[in-house]
Amino acid sequence: MKLTDNLNVRVYFFLVCIFCSAPPDGSGQIKAPEDFVGHKIGEDRQLFGWEKVTDYYRMLDDQSDRVAVLELGQSTKGKPFIMAIISSPHNMSNLAKYKNLQKQAANPRHLSEADARLLARENKAVVMITLNIHSTEIASSQESIELAYILTTDNSPRTQRILDNVIILLIPSLNPDGMQMVVDWYNQYLDTPHEGSPMPYLYHPYAGHDNNRDWFMMNLTETRMVSRQYYHEWFPHIVYDQHQMRSGSARLFLPPYADPVNPNLHPLLHSQMNKFGKHIASELQAKNFRGVVTDAFFTAWWQGTSVMTPWWHNMMGILSEMASAQIATPLYFPKGSLTGGGEGLPEYNQRMNFLDPWPGGWWRLRDIIDYELAISFALLDLAAAEKESIVYNFCKMNLDAIAKGKSEPPYAYVVPTLQHDPVTALRLLDILMLGGVEVHQATADFTAGHFKFSNGDYVILLSQPFRPYVKDLMERQRYPELRAYAGGPPVRPYDIAGWTLPLMMGVDAFEIERPFSAELSQVESISRPNPPPLVEDKHFIISHTTNASARAVNLLLAENRKVYWLKNAIEVNGQRYQPGAIYIPRNEVKIDKMNALSKALAIEIKQTEKSLAGQVAYLIKDFKLGLYQPWTANMDEGWTRLILEQFEFPHKTIDNVNIRTSNLRSEFDVIIIPDMEAKQIISGRKKDKPDIYSPPVPDAYLDGIGEDGVKKVIEFVEKGGTLITLGSACDFAIEQFGLPAMNVLSDTPPARAGDPLRGKDVKDTEFFCPGSLLQILVDNSEPIAFGMPEKAAAMFVNSPAFRPIYWRNRTAVPAYYPDDNLLLSGWIDGEDKIQGLAAVLDIPVGKGHVVLIGFGAQHRAQTPGTYKFLFNAIQLARAEELVLEK
Ligand SMILES: [Zn+2]
Repeated sequence: MKLTDNLNVRVYFFLVCIFCSAPPDGSGQIKAPEDFVGHKIGEDRQLFGWEKVTDYYRMLDDQSDRVAVLELGQSTKGKPFIMAIISSPHNMSNLAKYKNLQKQAANPRHLSEADARLLARENKAVVMITLNIHSTEIASSQESIELAYILTTDNSPRTQRILDNVIILLIPSLNPDGMQMVVDWYNQYLDTPHEGSPMPYLYHPYAGHDNNRDWFMMNLTETRMVSRQYYHEWFPHIVYDQHQMRSGSARLFLPPYADPVNPNLHPLLHSQMNKFGKHIASELQAKNFRGVVTDAFFTAWWQGTSVMTPWWHNMMGILSEMASAQIATPLYFPKGSLTGGGEGLPEYNQRMNFLDPWPGGWWRLRDIIDYELAISFALLDLAAAEKESIVYNFCKMNLDAIAKGKSEPPYAYVVPTLQHDPVTALRLLDILMLGGVEVHQATADFTAGHFKFSNGDYVILLSQPFRPYVKDLMERQRYPELRAYAGGPPVRPYDIAGWTLPLMMGVDAFEIERPFSAELSQVESISRPNPPPLVEDKHFIISHTTNASARAVNLLLAENRKVYWLKNAIEVNGQRYQPGAIYIPRNEVKIDKMNALSKALAIEIKQTEKSLAGQVAYLIKDFKLGLYQPWTANMDEGWTRLILEQFEFPHKTIDNVNIRTSNLRSEFDVIIIPDMEAKQIISGRKKDKPDIYSPPVPDAYLDGIGEDGVKKVIEFVEKGGTLITLGSACDFAIEQFGLPAMNVLSDTPPARAGDPLRGKDVKDTEFFCPGSLLQILVDNSEPIAFGMPEKAAAMFVNSPAFRPIYWRNRTAVPAYYPDDNLLLSGWIDGEDKIQGLAAVLDIPVGKGHVVLIGFGAQHRAQTPGTYKFLFNAIQLARAEELVLEK
């Protein structure tokens, strides 16, 4: 149907034929999905792609008064990214009213108890259903048109009740690019031994599977479009997200979630979600769907996914995880092949949370779709039946959050404008605001607790509806240290254990523990400072402390401008610059260009007349950068590529063939190998024995760089190239180059007999750090650490830690772990194993360098606080040390 109210989103399919509007019952001549695509939905080994989905939704939009389809924007690769709104024709013609009620429910500050009750009666439940974020979990993308068809055409009392009481927001794929890639790959290898094999590249162009780890950082366009619907447009009471999990255990996971529970969440939230999960499980049981497990596998702790991040906004997030087929190829489970394992289901046996184990047999794409349709309707049914309490409870949780922020600490977080990296600090505020957070700005100086703040500083009050979100992102996490049994090995968290945003971003934020008063004004958006115009005939100085300065350098290099980094700290016009200040001589760049640069990047450019002659400096020269992309769909490679694009580092992707066949040194000055196991770099997916769990990938995508590639990489460095290895890839460099360093947490290199430093056999019980923010001490006089503060937070995710070994050349240690108090946020056990050891090493080899960055310096594009190690290592690739002349 055509939307005529002010929904602030573009109506996607606007061609409505006035002569063929739908009959009142909403059915009529709407084509059934199987007629539309030409086969039964979920037929073995039959998949359709994104165009069919959008065409089908276009048809529904044209033909039904229950449906409106909006294009929220475009996917990363430019596909239409759509959302259908589905409800009764009456509700559809009153959407603006319900949107307005939702805005009040999401911010119920001024509502009395009676108002909230009235609003709950008047309003509808809003349920967002999101499908297919993980592209290989393909069933829901195929189900998407059938679900929409039933909701559009079915006239049963149950569907009528759903449509009358629920506004359904249906997103048929959270990653249309990936859906199409998976369908194409599958179809290309149909009827070959590679049918159903894994793709050699990422199914989200930057993030792959990690597209479901981006939901507070908002790096991806898909995340931003949907978050806008969550936190600014519709405030859904329930988000329901469909996934698939491993094949050989339970058929289906539903909430309740497993321990631990994040303490910032409102207890009412999980108690409601528990009810939904159990209700759906019971409905499914009544229809003979077997093998449902609850209270297992997926914990209620960690931020970052599309379905869980809404929890901290008092919105229910229901996850379903179906057992997978092999994409669209059926699998057969003989007796005895199904297993337990994991939190909540140690054995594949009947338990209270697993009442009816599935006995085995054939498992097909269509089975998954049948379960997923049944879940969707059971969920919508309960939402319809209980819509009034759902809406009221949402208001209540928001009101409770507002009240809590006034009565218990923390009362606020203050983000001063004076920052080590002010540009990144503003980005932190942008991200929070996209997440629905209210941000204020001081209009006068004020004091809070022990701190004095200035006019213009940003204040995030905890007295706001989404207080749980603010608190959880801004505070330091203390992971409840779960163990298999008392004194036993740690139970690994589902994902990382610490995600404190200011630490990851290198932003100063002050937690205010006592009530305070200040003159504040709420901001609509975060504005950038307006730099004063620059004048002719003076030198330019840019501080190295902002990440944006790296982008400025890249833009200047792109125009062949002379850029220097000053080796030592200097004072210019009363301002002190730490080592690495970026110096551009007068008249090297036109003044307009520098003014534009300063404005576009929101960086401060200072000027001086003073000659810097005699200063030691590095002349930074343009570099040819290669980023290694293996055929193992490496997410760290994708995130690294995203950051390189964001900061305008020119670069080329290098694959295994390029490495083996190119003259690397003539083509590149610097090569990055992303976080991956050493063995994978060399051997790729090649296994010593056949892998029975997965069809083989085609031979062309099987290899790593091979022994020939190893030789090429060594030759590249010896001839003057810089190799940067990230995370586990450092083990590759240590082993293959015979570097004077040891990763104390693995057996790299194999230790000599009797060596007390050997890392072999470090068990989880001795050292455990699954994803935490650790303190590092930085020697920011080392060029690779230019612009870093003296202390920073490093994301340590099963990372290596280095003990350098003395040898004949100077090894630089730009960052190392302190001797005590390593943990800033998350969980670490056995920290003495890495105390005092190196986190980053710069080791000269031949005419070149190998830079080892052990921790996740650019982890998921979420750690701007440590990007500089990577940026500097790249930009230094061709640097020439010299003394500045006049
Ligand atoms: Zn998934």
